[in-house]
Amino acid sequence: MIVVMNGQSTREQVDHVVDLLDGMGASHYLIDGPDRKIVEVLGVNGCFKAEVLEGAPMVERVVKGSGPFLAAGRGPDDQTAEIPLGARATVGGRELGVIAGPCCVESRDQMLEIAAAVSAAGATGLRGGAFKPRTSPYSFQGHAQPGLEWLAEARDRTGLAIVTEVMRCEHVGLVAEYADVLQIGSRNMHNYPLLTAVGQQSKPVLLKRGWSSTLDEFLMAAEYIMLEGNPNVILCERGIRTHETYVRNTLALAVVPEIKHVSTLPIIVDPSHGTGRPHLVSPMSKASVACGADGLLIEVHQDPKRAWTDSSQQLDLKQFASLMSELDPIARCCERALGTPGVIATSIPNS
Ligand code: PEP
Ligand code: MN
Repeated sequence: MIVVMNGQSTREQVDHVVDLLDGMGASHYLIDGPDRKIVEVLGVNGCFKAEVLEGAPMVERVVKGSGPFLAAGRGPDDQTAEIPLGARATVGGRELGVIAGPCCVESRDQMLEIAAAVSAAGATGLRGGAFKPRTSPYSFQGHAQPGLEWLAEARDRTGLAIVTEVMRCEHVGLVAEYADVLQIGSRNMHNYPLLTAVGQQSKPVLLKRGWSSTLDEFLMAAEYIMLEGNPNVILCERGIRTHETYVRNTLALAVVPEIKHVSTLPIIVDPSHGTGRPHLVSPMSKASVACGADGLLIEVHQDPKRAWTDSSQQLDLKQFASLMSELDPIARCCERALGTPGVIATSIPNS
């Protein structure tokens, strides 16, 4: 258990919490960080009452978990958290969260066309990067704000939740204005200031696994977000780097049931980056649902070969619709369900 003090708390207010713990016979350890102070409660007896701490001045929160993952850990009676995916869907409950769309936002018409198609096929979220993390600084870096505006327009027409990446602390406010879920990409899973910044705003966060991170590092990254007061973290397995070359990344599916074992956070799978091969996306999507994933993140493009980014791994609109109908019986078998097909935009007016 930890007691998180408000960032403005004084030394006297921290000492007061320590006195309360001493009075209840609880052992403790003060973590005196530069931005915030945390009192870790190490051992308690029958006199201990968490409410006493919760009522103390400048106590922001008492996080009651045990073990290394204080916020994300799972106790024996805990259920997976159900996290909002926009206004109409969730991730972590019975319904699978299927988030589909292009690697990057290329144009308004493209987003409206893809949004209508994936919504009709049963997706509940629309993905697409307006800020793109590119290996080469000379490659297309994303349309930035106009891209966010096109995503928001696609949401207005279809009801799909918008999931899009934020790469810099100073863009968190801007991206949160347009997105329903803020994506932290694989490259930024270890970017602790960015994790803290998305933890300080209220939109849910999709946290992608760093491609060389362990499961513990992945969950600790989620703890950084949750410690700031944002409990809505959706984990995403997107493959790790191994010696293999027949795939872009090695999709580590065992992480799905393991996360269910150790954490209450929902986990979805990205078989597009996880394999880098369109013909592997469908079988790995089915395997993901079968092993308990709470949803999927799938790259879908109206003309994959001409995609501006990740042209070799995206499904076309027809392939995505077929995948969704093939997933349906597997979802039912696992006592899950796909989303209800949404509103279809019949025509795309000019801007
Ligand atoms: C993405 O989903 O757009 C992306 C860049 O993936 P990752 O961060 O997993 O590489
Ligand atoms: Mn991509």
